[in-house]
Amino acid sequence: MTKMIYPGQTIGIIGGGQLGRMMAVAAREAGFKIAVLEPTMDSPCGQVADIRIVAAYDDEAALEELAEVSDVITYEFENIDYDGLKRLTQMAYVPQGAELVRITQNRITEKQMIVEAGCPVAPYIVASTYGQLEESIRKIGFPCIVKTARGGYDGKGQQLLKSADELSLTKELFEHSQCIAEGFVPFAKEISVIVQRNGYGETYCLPVGENIHVNHILHETIVPARIEEKTAALAEEAAMKIADCLQLVGTLAVEMFVLEDGSIVINECAPRPHNSGHYSIEGCNISQFTQHIRAVCGWPLRKPKLWASSIMVNVLGQHVVSLTNSIPKYPDWSVHLYGKTEAKVNRKMGHITIMTDDLSAALQQIEDSCIWSE
Ligand code: AMP
Repeated sequence: MTKMIYPGQTIGIIGGGQLGRMMAVAAREAGFKIAVLEPTMDSPCGQVADIRIVAAYDDEAALEELAEVSDVITYEFENIDYDGLKRLTQMAYVPQGAELVRITQNRITEKQMIVEAGCPVAPYIVASTYGQLEESIRKIGFPCIVKTARGGYDGKGQQLLKSADELSLTKELFEHSQCIAEGFVPFAKEISVIVQRNGYGETYCLPVGENIHVNHILHETIVPARIEEKTAALAEEAAMKIADCLQLVGTLAVEMFVLEDGSIVINECAPRPHNSGHYSIEGCNISQFTQHIRAVCGWPLRKPKLWASSIMVNVLGQHVVSLTNSIPKYPDWSVHLYGKTEAKVNRKMGHITIMTDDLSAALQQIEDSCIWSE
């Protein structure tokens, strides 16, 4: 049953990363208190939380403690322990439920769900062992991509295969989990739609973002995506169908490929606010984080509206020094740093958002800054 959670009550967040931090900041604006469960003491979310429970995500006593101090519980990442989350649903109010995580943390169940929702995916096969892959890969052909069913992110747990000669490169993947092999999609663009829904079924999508990856890591999101209107409509329609099929409560980020002819293929989903939605903090009349908090707190949702074209650029460990040195030069850049102390290479440390009337000038400015040239 959907409950309304009021300011002054406590929202528990599983996971202490930047997504949790931005959720917490949004919730605090409305007067909620925040409790966070996270194994490290000094985490991005822990820094802005009222209560920190420092323990592993599947620590039973810690989950009980979180249940005790929280009026509602949400999470900021999907690779949480499903059984732990399921138990939590029995002792606390977890409006998103545990099913959403069970389905989306495994590429096999996720793809089945997307197909069930009536949306297109790349042709794929499931292989539990390397031997099975050898047997059935010809159904997909080459080039193809083999992905672990569980636990991959930012291109980890994946292997592109150009021909059968390369098959043995995937042996290692089977040490982690079952795998899927899917046909390589010759996409023209990658886009994402963030769809959010409350327990009353109210559903809205944020404007479609165009995502540019560098070394498998999201580099830039451009909004609105530079796609035809009918493709944007197809993308939103697909995201709504998937949200409906899942009876979503909270947030689902749906990543898609756009083909040359303007049709779409769904790649994967994440049941949480997403890096490609960060632009909404400044770019929209409602951010993905505020909308997420409203959804899990049983508040009515707001119809999203884009104030101006926006570009979000990720700031990785190798970019931090040059970004901070450049702050005086770019008053129009909204700077977000997540409070992480160690600036490791390729670690997401923050992002910037630029709102602009002139997309190409802003893209040029980003290039001229040389911050992202390494
Ligand atoms: P994923 O972890 O599934 O999001 O994949 C990471 C990136 O690999 C995607 O953003 C794409 O750039 C690329 N990729 C994944 N699957 C495919 C595919 N079937 N065809 C072409 N590129 C893909």
